[in-house]
Amino acid sequence: MESCSVLIVGGGPAGLTIARWIGKGAVVVHQDAEIGLPVRTSGGSWKRHIDALGIPASLYQVINTLRFATDDEERLFDFERETAVVLDITGTYRYLAAQAESAGAEIRCRQKFVSIDMETASHVISTIEDGDRTYQVKSEVVIDASGYWRAVMSHIDKGVYDRHGIGSEYEYEDLSPRSDIATLLVGGRYTNPGYGWVFPTNKKTVRVGVGHARPDTLLSPKISLEKLIHSDYLQSIDVVTGECVSKHGGVIPNWGPCTQFGRGRIIGVGDSVGQALPTVGEGIRYCIEVGNYVGALLVDCVRSNGNPEAVTANYTKWWNKRYRRSFNASQWLNEKISAYTNDDWNRGLHRLARVKPDDFARMVQADISPTVALRIAIANRDLPGKILKVLAGK
Ligand SMILES: Cc1cc2nc3c(=O)[nH]c(=O)nc-3n(C[C@H](O)[C@H](O)[C@H](O)COP(=O)(O)OP(=O)(O)OC[C@H]3O[C@@H](n4cnc5c(N)ncnc54)[C@H](O)[C@@H]3O)c2cc1C
Repeated sequence: MESCSVLIVGGGPAGLTIARWIGKGAVVVHQDAEIGLPVRTSGGSWKRHIDALGIPASLYQVINTLRFATDDEERLFDFERETAVVLDITGTYRYLAAQAESAGAEIRCRQKFVSIDMETASHVISTIEDGDRTYQVKSEVVIDASGYWRAVMSHIDKGVYDRHGIGSEYEYEDLSPRSDIATLLVGGRYTNPGYGWVFPTNKKTVRVGVGHARPDTLLSPKISLEKLIHSDYLQSIDVVTGECVSKHGGVIPNWGPCTQFGRGRIIGVGDSVGQALPTVGEGIRYCIEVGNYVGALLVDCVRSNGNPEAVTANYTKWWNKRYRRSFNASQWLNEKISAYTNDDWNRGLHRLARVKPDDFARMVQADISPTVALRIAIANRDLPGKILKVLAGK
């Protein structure tokens, strides 16, 4: 049986970030044929956070304006400081993978984690599938970074949860006049209940997608997306598409953050423990941030032959302090807006009319300070106080 210090299940942003910390001694098993493909996400995020995580500017498209729209109304938010970005997903994941490999980590594609066979006080034995054969790996720690599927965590708690988002996205050559304007589409004929997006990339392509929440609706995002694409909506917002270059689909947890991030020598990170912000399904930057935090703790733990349960306890405390309130609030809002009608969205858009673009950006990030909350409340007396309180994490 082979052995390693840390077995990482899943080569997405969470797993790859931990691998680059551990370096030699980390083995990543990734069930797909390569890192970063197929794409299962649309890559929207915020420049300030992505820069702070050290992702090079060559790996994203800057978005200066966000169009927030229903079928009937739209509001353009021209950001000043809170610029948005659309990540080159394949490029970003491969960048993280290259860093992990140059630190000495081993990344094995087409290898699927199957089961935990034994847990003792000093190690875990896992079974990995490699095509037709299986083999066992003995490791001090197992990281579940397998995303929505929770390949390892589901052995220690209730498995895959009911509430999730399911998205379909087509990527086209982008012939539009502007590549720095993104659109979030809510309500209406194509996306309700759910939302749509039009995200230009730094590769002269544009991603058009629709996501629906399960079990709130059984609508197929692919059918909704086809309706959107064949409507005159894209033309009406000056989005001109050429050839379709790829089609993507993905699933995202929408059950809110798990209460337990690990047990014994098993630690869950990223989507496997519900760490994608529920309102807009933004997860990538949180995965990298958590990967950095847990990775640094694990390096010490492995070096000193320490107790991984102390890593989980420290990491859970840090995450709860930093994010649990805003994630719980975002989950509350996600469930509320999932029931919105087109009229509700139109009313919502009117209420946002006087919100400053950068404050709106903070609302989308579920990260508004009491000062910003007060500023928004004064300018928008008809905005429900409950929503502001929730977004401020109160
Ligand atoms: C339609 C859609 C749109 C999204 N849009 C955005 C967005 O605009 N911005 C944003 O920040 N986030 C977005 N997200 C969320 C984001 O994609 C996730 O939060 C993020 O990818 C989670 O990263 P992760 O590393 O936890 O898991 P993943 O990225 O899911 O990576 C896990 C990997 O593990 C592999 N794996 C699974 N099971 C096993 C196994 N048994 N053995 C080995 N490998 C396994 C999977 O194949 C997968 O590649 C979106 C998600 C979806 C579905």
